[in-house]
Amino acid sequence: MLAFVLQEGPPSLVRNRPYPEPHHGLVRVRTLVAGICNTDLELTRGYMGFRGVLGHEFVGEALDGKFTGKRVVGGINFGCGRCEACAQGLARHCPERRVLGIVAADGALAEEFLIPEANLLEVPATVSDESAAFAEPVAAACEILEQVGAVKDRSVLVIGDGKLGPLVAQVLGSDGASVTLEGRHLEQLGWLRERDIRLASEEGRYDIVVEVTGSREGFARAIRMCRPRGTLVLKTTVGRKHEIDLTPLVINEITVVGSRCGRMQPALERLADGRVNVEPLISVRFSLVDVERAFETAAQRGVRKVLVMAY
Ligand SMILES: [Zn+2]
Ligand SMILES: [Zn+2]
Repeated sequence: MLAFVLQEGPPSLVRNRPYPEPHHGLVRVRTLVAGICNTDLELTRGYMGFRGVLGHEFVGEALDGKFTGKRVVGGINFGCGRCEACAQGLARHCPERRVLGIVAADGALAEEFLIPEANLLEVPATVSDESAAFAEPVAAACEILEQVGAVKDRSVLVIGDGKLGPLVAQVLGSDGASVTLEGRHLEQLGWLRERDIRLASEEGRYDIVVEVTGSREGFARAIRMCRPRGTLVLKTTVGRKHEIDLTPLVINEITVVGSRCGRMQPALERLADGRVNVEPLISVRFSLVDVERAFETAAQRGVRKVLVMAY
């Protein structure tokens, strides 16, 4: 089968990867649409030392098990099922977890891939394939709500208007936060104003600052923009290490929250009822045979979501 594989050097399209075989609770999913995110780009720069098929943002058709023939999305963390974290439904913190297309598990940028059946959710008929492909990053945005609690009437600054920032802004805004989004490419995001999201770079201090740039400057600015006793949410995983001055966090008693993957169900609900609109965030679509060009495009400045159509 066709698969986009990261080995030594830059990732490449392989044409003779064997089709996966279902086993041990893992079922086959035929990829319909897969998204490329910054984590994928970081993986190609050495983040996590991953080797294998890339891709963790997907909607597909289940080929085995109880969802056979249905459109599905799924949690990307494969827990051991035996540890304390797994018992609490937190496979995403299982110390032995594998992660689709990120840690020791082949991903969705292929014709087919394997995933635990327990991770799958059926996609409601009202959600298009392209929207469903955003379930994973929308879940990552929803994770913030689970971590910081109710955001109603709290002031929020989202720093970074790339692939994830506009999703975070919509998730927090639709839960009642007063959200400002700042970034370098706001001109294409005017439609967010209709959703009561301010697009600006206002000075001032915010109750919650979400850092989505992953850059050193972004971290430094996030610390400056957080009010005393406020919350700073760090939302990007980067291969590089930053040296930053932590003293302002102490002086201002800022709570720092690292935030990664979230549950899929709240994400699907928000995509289904329109609280999160993702279609204007699609920059370009490629077919799986052009996945190498898709990756090059996704790495360009100002490009938001690149989708890979696998059918
Ligand atoms: Zn991602
Ligand atoms: Zn576990």
